[in-house]
Amino acid sequence: MPELRTDWLTGRSVIVAENRAQRPNEFAIGPASGGVHTGNSAVTCPFCAGNEHLTPPSVYEQSGGDGRWQIRVVPNKYPALAHDGTSASTTVCQRSLWADSSGATGAHEVIVESPNHVDRMSALSVEELRKVLEAYAARLSHWQQHGRFKYGLLFKNQGAAAGASLVHVHSQLVALTEAPPPVQREQIRAQTAVHKSGRCPYCQLIDLERSAGERVVIEGNGFIAFCPFASLQPFEAWVMPSDHRAAFEQSAGEGTMPALAGVLQAVVRKVESQLPTAAYNWWIRTAPWHVNDDRSSHWRLELLPRVSPLAGLELAAGVHINPLSPEEAARRLREA
Ligand SMILES: [Zn+2]
Ligand SMILES: [Zn+2]
Repeated sequence: MPELRTDWLTGRSVIVAENRAQRPNEFAIGPASGGVHTGNSAVTCPFCAGNEHLTPPSVYEQSGGDGRWQIRVVPNKYPALAHDGTSASTTVCQRSLWADSSGATGAHEVIVESPNHVDRMSALSVEELRKVLEAYAARLSHWQQHGRFKYGLLFKNQGAAAGASLVHVHSQLVALTEAPPPVQREQIRAQTAVHKSGRCPYCQLIDLERSAGERVVIEGNGFIAFCPFASLQPFEAWVMPSDHRAAFEQSAGEGTMPALAGVLQAVVRKVESQLPTAAYNWWIRTAPWHVNDDRSSHWRLELLPRVSPLAGLELAAGVHINPLSPEEAARRLREA
């Protein structure tokens, strides 16, 4: 099974998952090729309707108007995490002052976002995107209620430069036994801010962005999209509920997904108008499942175009070089 290695000196965590090397990869090896792919066709694509036998059986489906499935969630055939119920405690294989190794425990699912061989999210209608978002929320809620896990991470790799191996639109969900280190660090800072001001720091951030205006891309129907002040890449965009909502799953239960689908489709199309073939990731930063103070979380969807690869400075220092200011990026996105 996959193995989680942690180096205490550096704080590095690595999942060694040799099964992942067996994944089919449709993308040509070479320079960052964005959405360009060598191409499985709908005949051989494991995510196309009619090829369900190429994946594990679905654990969740939403049907479309014609009665066929519209969204399909399946366990990842090549999981980076496993949850066989015994792994974490029984597969500890090394432990020392500086290193730790255990079974990489968690759930790993694939959300197939269309029955058709679609390779861009911008090709989905608002209605189709709403169903995708509702599937995200349903699976996050499922794993939260499962009780064994502390964090659910929903993420999308679109294009080879963003880490995708198949072109057919899909996202992934991992349920983790601990919130990832960046989420934990942000939680501590947010809790400190709540302690000082008594108010959600993300609500304060939205107030600041709204009054400054220069990084706002679009706002309406209860959501705001803006290029963050310290954007890592050109046209990075965050989508957040304008009013305080700690957990993404909570928003879904309040019937806000149609509005979010509209805003997200607009943002994706604006970004694609500036970067027509760019790869990108998106992920949802929702509230950790073990945190009780709702004021220290305010969910967001981060969309990160992968314009330039991570180079030496990014990898060695954690400092990113962005050749386009977020203010100029937001201006171009507003006008797109
Ligand atoms: Zn397909
Ligand atoms: Zn808030």
